[in-house]
Amino acid sequence: MDKQEIIQLLQSKGEERTQLLKKSREVKEKVVGNKVYFRGLIEFSNICSKDCLYCGIRKSNTNVIRYSATDNEILEACRFAWETRFASVVLQSGEISSPEFVKRVDYLLKEIKQLSNNELGITLSCGEQSRETYLRWFESGAHRFLLRIESSNRDLYYKIHPKNNNHSFEKRLEALLFLKETGYQVGTGVMIGLPFQTYKDLADDLLFLKKLDIDMCGMGPYIEHEDTPLYEYRNLLMSKQKRFDLALNMIAVLRLLMPDINIAAATALQAIDPAGREKALAVGANIIMPNLTPVGYREEYQLYEDKPCLDEDKELCRNCLEARIELSGCEIGYDEWGDSKHFIKRNGK
Ligand code: SAH
Ligand code: SF4
Repeated sequence: MDKQEIIQLLQSKGEERTQLLKKSREVKEKVVGNKVYFRGLIEFSNICSKDCLYCGIRKSNTNVIRYSATDNEILEACRFAWETRFASVVLQSGEISSPEFVKRVDYLLKEIKQLSNNELGITLSCGEQSRETYLRWFESGAHRFLLRIESSNRDLYYKIHPKNNNHSFEKRLEALLFLKETGYQVGTGVMIGLPFQTYKDLADDLLFLKKLDIDMCGMGPYIEHEDTPLYEYRNLLMSKQKRFDLALNMIAVLRLLMPDINIAAATALQAIDPAGREKALAVGANIIMPNLTPVGYREEYQLYEDKPCLDEDKELCRNCLEARIELSGCEIGYDEWGDSKHFIKRNGK
């Protein structure tokens, strides 16, 4: 597929779109199967040193009460994931790179491995870190890492981030390369429907993911947040429904471009449509991240408005998901890591 064809598919409507979504589902089923894998998401801290212009927990948002879950709370959530046969967890947080933070994550990784007989798979999503830190965490048990590039267009990147050394596009790219070198299964992605973003940018994003030869992708609609600088440009945005439809098109085209990677059904889809994640699974996605963050903290981890499941206990969340996944016609891969087939091939395993 060349760029022009991708742009056309991203814009497709009616019968052309129906065919795209159908084709993507067929390719998914043929190449990665019909199973959905769970990654229990633990948003363990909202303390962040960065000021991304779109994000509700950016450092300068003083309306947020900052928290860091206790070791016990984090380990209990992991134990729940393991006992519930989720097989993997994702530890996500704001970006901090102090020696104390690095050491703490290291400690948690070892504890999680121990409490689960080495069975729980661990993904980290804790932002840009040094090569040494990535290596240390890898050696302590993390084997996947999510770091979205947010936009592969450097100019657009600087429209949605402050223009300073703490938000360098080059450093983000370099971090992705460090992650790959270290041996992680690497996941990245972009926000869809950002102000100033064009179809050409999104087509370039997909080609960027392909060129980087990623193993996993998480991408979802951009959703404005009142307490952020980007909110000023909300009148430039497509309607939420259009951003939602476009996000599904992006997932479908990516599945055609990279048939054997893992693609997550982003939570942001559900902020627009209550059945948003299931719709993504019915198209090309095969990963879902049930929220296991202790309920008391969820209000304070609102990256965007209308974030779903703020008061949903983890047990309830599991039951609700099981029912929804069945409805989407997929099966749940309990007790299986569900590693990216692409990664397995890339490593000749
Ligand atoms: N601090 C880490 C991980 C937490 S943020 C990091 O930035 O990598 C996780 C993701 O949330 C970001 O990569 C971004 O793509 C997404 N996000 C933040 N604000 C958002 C918004 N307003 N709409 C949609 N997604 C958003
Ligand atoms: Fe911090 Fe991540 Fe939000 Fe940026 S996107 S402000 S790094 S939590």
